Amino acid sequence: MEELRIGVVGTGAIGRKHIRRITERLKGGKVVAVSDANLAGAQAVAAEYGAELFEDGGALIASPGVDAVIVTAWDPAHKEYVMDAVRAGKYVFCEKPLATTAADCREIVEAEQAGGKRLVQVGFMRRYDEGYRRMKEAVDGGFIGAPLMVHCAHRNASMDPEYEDDYMITQCCIHEIDLVKWLIDDEYESVRVLLPRSTKFTGRRLHDPQIAQIRTKKGVCIDVEIFVNCQFGYDIQCQVVGESGTVNLPDPSYLPYRKGAVRGAALCTNWEDRFVEAYNVELQEWIDATRAGRVDGPNAWDGYVAAVTADAMIRAREAGEEMPVDLPERPAFYR
Ligand code: NAP
Repeated sequence: MEELRIGVVGTGAIGRKHIRRITERLKGGKVVAVSDANLAGAQAVAAEYGAELFEDGGALIASPGVDAVIVTAWDPAHKEYVMDAVRAGKYVFCEKPLATTAADCREIVEAEQAGGKRLVQVGFMRRYDEGYRRMKEAVDGGFIGAPLMVHCAHRNASMDPEYEDDYMITQCCIHEIDLVKWLIDDEYESVRVLLPRSTKFTGRRLHDPQIAQIRTKKGVCIDVEIFVNCQFGYDIQCQVVGESGTVNLPDPSYLPYRKGAVRGAALCTNWEDRFVEAYNVELQEWIDATRAGRVDGPNAWDGYVAAVTADAMIRAREAGEEMPVDLPERPAFYR
């Protein structure tokens, strides 16, 4: 295939960033069509990039001038556009979440299997971060022996006072949910959520921090601290503890300094800067794989697993109990 002709549904914040990176930085793809519920916003993007404007996302997906689709609309619209793309037999990259409910993710998985071809990739960009990739190489290569425990932290400096409890799972921890099972090549069995004393800096709708705990089928115990008003920066940590050693996520923003009788290092303050390279690599690899007729990245089944696990975590927090992650066996189609 010559250049991949890409249609983008959703020209909000991350949609625009992806359009810019495809246009200015990446190779092999061109944004030829855009659409958004906010028509004026989409119009401005269409004019800036010389793309065709579609008032309706479904019409964009059906257009013969569009080879593949990126869905960056708001969460509740993901399912409809992904289903449209699957029915049209087109490759689709959907920002996380794949859909807002596990049942909707399941429908996508079933539609894709019925079509007989993997088409869907989900935007879990952590898998493309250089540091996590180096950790995975070390774990896969047996450098620290069999993994026993994984400790993670997901900290944001501050969050909108209206931020809600469920978002701690569905918007923050969802990244670790996908990442860790990929990192240690395991499946989830059960989850629970602990609620430590809450910080005084949190909004009235939110208990902050929370600790998600996951037990895997191989018996690995994972803990994820989610703390979105930590005050000091955007701080993502991960350590895998194996039978004979540990590996830690390198922090690319780490600039060690010595000044004024202090030894220190600057931290990132937002997720876009921290993972900018991961987004670039993610979309470049998606373009390359799509042109070659493959889905190499996190697929629809991974999106479904994340949704089922997140649902179980929310139930576990509400009940104050351990909850099973009820999933059927991963179908051969997705292995
Ligand atoms: P955003 O700035 O609010 O953009 C979302 C856009 O979708 C808005 O322009 C919105 O229009 C539009 N929209 C709403 N309903 C639509 C529909 N039915 N059809 C087409 N467009 C529709 O949000 P964002 O930050 O860009 O996030 C977009 C998606 O990316 C979300 O699903 C989010 O979870 C995901 N995301 C992922 C990551 C990551 O780390 N992987 C990071 C950020 C965001 P209105 O303004 O008129 O409502």
